Amino acid sequence: MPAKVNINTAGEMGFCAGVTQAIEKAEKAAEKYGQVQMLGDIVHNEIVVEELTDKGVVVIDNLESADRNIPILFRAHGTPKELWQKAKEMGLQTIDATCPLVKEIHKYAKILENEDRSVFIIGDKGHDEVNGIASQVSKPIIISESEDIPKHNISKAGVVIQSTQNFDKVKILIVQLLERVKDLRIINTICAPTRNRQQEVKKLAKSNDLIIIVGSFTSANTKRLVKVAQKINPNTKQVESPDDLRKKWFDNVTNVGLSAGASTPNSIIEDVKRKITSF
Ligand code: SF4
Repeated sequence: MPAKVNINTAGEMGFCAGVTQAIEKAEKAAEKYGQVQMLGDIVHNEIVVEELTDKGVVVIDNLESADRNIPILFRAHGTPKELWQKAKEMGLQTIDATCPLVKEIHKYAKILENEDRSVFIIGDKGHDEVNGIASQVSKPIIISESEDIPKHNISKAGVVIQSTQNFDKVKILIVQLLERVKDLRIINTICAPTRNRQQEVKKLAKSNDLIIIVGSFTSANTKRLVKVAQKINPNTKQVESPDDLRKKWFDNVTNVGLSAGASTPNSIIEDVKRKITSF
């Protein structure tokens, strides 16, 4: 282990604007109404969720179990149209914390449908954001892997992309789609924060001996960052907190690249930095 390890942090990492805004809305609502309920976790990060719980944010699994006397906040990555409708029918007070960039994807999906195009959504099947986008159109086709691409030819189609998708993977799927579709309109809806984070992590992976990505193991965008880095630098590790760091990882390491998923709070990133420095 060298005497000093340089920590090179990504230019952009951690909370994106959408997540920050959603958390602020949840905190403000909890303060104003005493409590606010949310369908599922606001971000895929257990530490953030615990902190919010302490402030009065209650996580529920389904709308049926919602308390009608407490407002419900719909999260950053969007909520299917049917759930908005159901909440309205139940008389629930709703707070919209959908990220504006996710709303834009909803809008584009509808535009493509109005142009009489089959609507493809490149994204993870079952992910809440993808479900929300799919609910905007009548016959969405979700493409997570090459196998999901239709085997028959299509004359006119359009594509939107889940905001946090891996750009390199999307490129491969688009090329495969082009073989099937004559008139294909592609709207690149990978959001700028995701694109920037992926670019930054690529740069780090090329120029550092070890890459540490901080984020929850349940966070899809963190896992994607890990994959992007690993492809360039196999010596990439993911940690949820400083406790996951192992001293032996730093043997013969001079430069460490550090990045974090969009749902990782700054406080945890700082704790990880401190622990690396202490080794
Ligand atoms: S990852 Fe992008 S689209 Fe998703 S909440 Fe953050 S800024 Fe919005």
